[in-house]
Amino acid sequence: MKRFKEEKTFVLIKPDGVRKGLVGEIIKRLEQRDLKIIALEMFQPTKKQIDSHYPKDKKWITRLGEKSLGTYHKYNIDPVKELGTNKEKVIGDMVRKWLIEYMTSAPLVRMVVQGVHAVDMVRKIAGPTMPSVADMGTIRGDFSADSAAIANSEKRAVANILHASETPEEAEHEIQHWFGDKPSIFQYKRFGIDG
Ligand code: ADP
Repeated sequence: MKRFKEEKTFVLIKPDGVRKGLVGEIIKRLEQRDLKIIALEMFQPTKKQIDSHYPKDKKWITRLGEKSLGTYHKYNIDPVKELGTNKEKVIGDMVRKWLIEYMTSAPLVRMVVQGVHAVDMVRKIAGPTMPSVADMGTIRGDFSADSAAIANSEKRAVANILHASETPEEAEHEIQHWFGDKPSIFQYKRFGIDG
């Protein structure tokens, strides 16, 4: 069970999380759920770093476009009027470009977080991608009301406070991408958790 108990995930506090002064609040919520911060740093990312952080495959980009179209559908907004197209891949490419602008607009905070089912646990604490539908009690639900419809009408990415890896494989890849060449991941015993 060591595999589940000591699972690692990658967390990135986004520009709106940093600019809203939520760094402490986010760390508090992770630590109070018995998760352990084992690496932590504020830094200014380059466009190239963000570009290689987000997947480039057609499936992922199309899914981004589908999310936008889903919201447009729900609120009866014509995507062609708003964005000039209703094609998932084209909208996905637009959103990806906005994401790079947004993610380089302020310093970020990167972290490696370890603990019981850390990947799923952090996603649960963060809440779903769209803050407007996130439950109260989640970070996104408590501190943002952004939605794809509003964001896309302003030609920007959804500001949802933090990024957290979706699977253990993605976590491994992202930890390598953001901390790979740095000896800055620590191990220590937390009282009451590790004995
Ligand atoms: P998550 O960050 O929850 O894993 P995704 O990987 O699907 O979500 O999307 C990456 C990021 O792109 C989101 O966190 C959000 O900032 C932004 N985003 C996702 N979908 C849209 C959209 N339809 N319009 C604008 N921004 C979006």
